[in-house]
Amino acid sequence: MSKQKILELHVRDSEIQLRAANAALRESEQKYRSMVEIIPDWVWQIDRDGIYTYSSPNVKDLLGYEVEEVIGKTPFDLMPDAEAERMRARFRDLIVSHSPIERLENTNVHKDGHLVVLEASAVAIYDERGEFTGYGGIDRDITIRKEAENALIESQQLLGALVENVPGALYSCALDRHWTMYYLSDMIEDITGYAASDFINNQERSYASIIHPDDRKMVEDVVREAVEKREVFKIEYRVIHKDGHIVWVFEHGRGYFDADGELVCLHGVNIDITEQKRMVEVLNESRQSLAEAQRITHIGNWDWNLANDKLTWSDEMFSIFGIDPEEFTGIYDDFIKIVHPMDRDFANKEIEAAAEGRKPLDAQFRLLLKDGTLKYIEAKGKRFTDENGRTSHMIGTNQDITERKQAEQQIETLSRFPGENPSPVLRVTIEGKLLYANDASSTILKEWGSVIGQGVPEKWCNYIREAFESEKLKRFEIQHQGKTLSFIITPVIEAGYANLYGRDITERRKSEIERERLMESLAEKSDEMERLLRIVTHDLRSPLVNIIGFSSELESDCQKIVEALNSIQMDEQLKENISEIANEYIPDSLSFITSSTKKMDSLITSLSQLSQLGRIELHIETINMDEMISEIVKATLYKVKQEGVSITSEHLPDCKGDDKQVNQVFANVIGNAIKYLDPARKGQIKISGQIEGPMSIYCVEDNGVGIPDNHKDKVFEIFHRVDPKSHVAGEGIGLTTAKQMVGRLGGRIRVESEVGVGSKFFIALPTV
Ligand code: ADP
Repeated sequence: MSKQKILELHVRDSEIQLRAANAALRESEQKYRSMVEIIPDWVWQIDRDGIYTYSSPNVKDLLGYEVEEVIGKTPFDLMPDAEAERMRARFRDLIVSHSPIERLENTNVHKDGHLVVLEASAVAIYDERGEFTGYGGIDRDITIRKEAENALIESQQLLGALVENVPGALYSCALDRHWTMYYLSDMIEDITGYAASDFINNQERSYASIIHPDDRKMVEDVVREAVEKREVFKIEYRVIHKDGHIVWVFEHGRGYFDADGELVCLHGVNIDITEQKRMVEVLNESRQSLAEAQRITHIGNWDWNLANDKLTWSDEMFSIFGIDPEEFTGIYDDFIKIVHPMDRDFANKEIEAAAEGRKPLDAQFRLLLKDGTLKYIEAKGKRFTDENGRTSHMIGTNQDITERKQAEQQIETLSRFPGENPSPVLRVTIEGKLLYANDASSTILKEWGSVIGQGVPEKWCNYIREAFESEKLKRFEIQHQGKTLSFIITPVIEAGYANLYGRDITERRKSEIERERLMESLAEKSDEMERLLRIVTHDLRSPLVNIIGFSSELESDCQKIVEALNSIQMDEQLKENISEIANEYIPDSLSFITSSTKKMDSLITSLSQLSQLGRIELHIETINMDEMISEIVKATLYKVKQEGVSITSEHLPDCKGDDKQVNQVFANVIGNAIKYLDPARKGQIKISGQIEGPMSIYCVEDNGVGIPDNHKDKVFEIFHRVDPKSHVAGEGIGLTTAKQMVGRLGGRIRVESEVGVGSKFFIALPTV
């Protein structure tokens, strides 16, 4: 084969191969193109200057451009200015580094103007010589994803901001006794002072541990009940802050259940309401103070809504109007029916005028309460109008001015008083000029020879001056037309005059003088009596001594007569008669004389003691009454034992007094208790005592015969005995003496008694 032939064959072969290669290339290019065209991403190629040399047709889907519009442009031509700037800088690096582009976000402007966010990935392209010729890559439209991402970020940011700004701590927790927290927002730290993380899974402490112990059970009960009923719970309770103070929390939450109806957790929010609580407290306090102020000033306030005729009253209003809040229906009628019938028309008119805006309400009228009480009130009020200028409601106050009215009436009466006064009333200046004189002063003015506007006598000027100087009331008396007049001068310093009030005290003076005279003569008489008593007791005692002396001599003489008779011879009958006289009759009479004289002697002793009682010097000391009474009782022991009387004494308080006299008083009273027992029953005497205020009060109680009512006071009178013929020895002086003694010691004695039951003698003596 010729070389030529061989060459031809080679060429043909090469052509065939080239055609085949071309066909294969076209096929692969076709495949590649159709592949590129079916994927949703935009495939492109740029040269080293950044100019698009290839663009897949779906650039139209992404950016709205035809392929031809893109070829020859750079990516920066399709971007907003700022983005183009950013990307150009990036591209400058890339043409140096040739590094691949990985998921580079870039913002482009769609042909219709809206922004499209693309995500580019690309690799550098080199020619067969290994020269860098540009980048080939794809762009994916991530606008929607980006929007979604942005929306998510935004919503997360929003949620974060919301959680942050919720004025409380949001939580998600378990329904257990710890309130185990799964989630708790940071606000909990502001509320409790503890970090939220402290409570998550009870890491540092449980939420339950900071709830006030007194509230824990209540919180649990409320939450459990609400969860059971699948309701929202709202609770107020206290938690203890980290620094120890109490924080009031309002919690609002509910149970969160899964599809099977199982409780998953609790969701809710805790809000710090300490301040609100304090405000409520302050509000309540100020409400109370307002009510208190209203009570003190007798001012009530009201609010009348004219649209629905609804009256609202403060508490004081009810008290002024004397009605029970329960029976108050709040209509105008409730009010007007308590206004005095005679003042109702007036009140209605005044209120109407105020409601119509003709004048503010400022009126006084009377109330006639259900119980008949008459009151005066002062009503004040103003109206409020709606947008049409019509009165919508009125507010105002009612003050109970009854006292003020009464005072005004009294002042009015008093202002008439000097003129109507039957005694002299005068007003004189500090210089002595007469300003006023009532009718009853006319005789005085006549005596002075003075009239209103002129001077008063010098003596009176002096009195007035003295009153002004001392700034006190001054009293003096004058004799006027046979009468004694007492004057009081009251200086009214700031006015520069004095009021003079005269009073006729002639009668009072007379009776005072009479009383003084009587007292004097009484004192004289009692002195006289005392003297007489002393003389009598003294003079009586000497003959008594004689009688006793001679009686005993007579007794021994009789003895002698009897003895002499034995040795004398005489008629037996006569002898017997004389012996009977000397032995029996005379001694019998003598014993009668002796007992009578003894009685008389003791009577004289008692009397003389009584007469001297007022002069005996007292030795006041603290007396141990337990000891004294036991001494006195011991002295009566013989009689007590003999007659089976029981005497009991409680522990007695001490008292202050003269030992001897107190002893005598109690000895007498206890002695009487024994003396006047009822023989029909076993005697029982009780002595007790107690302190009442400044006094020690003792009681000697017996179950004796008792004292009839009409004798109770008299037993303290001298010589008074309930039964003067009684066989019981006594002179009727004991209780008189006791009363005098107790009186001198600053005490009292009295008796309570019932005939047939017994008597109680109460003796009060100073404790200290
Ligand atoms: P006296 O006992 O010597 O008669 P008093 O002055 O002590 O005098 O008493 C006056 C009278 O009061 C007595 O006579 C007696 O009638 C009555 N009396 C006093 N104490 C009692 C008493 N405990 N029970 C009943 N009567 C009494």
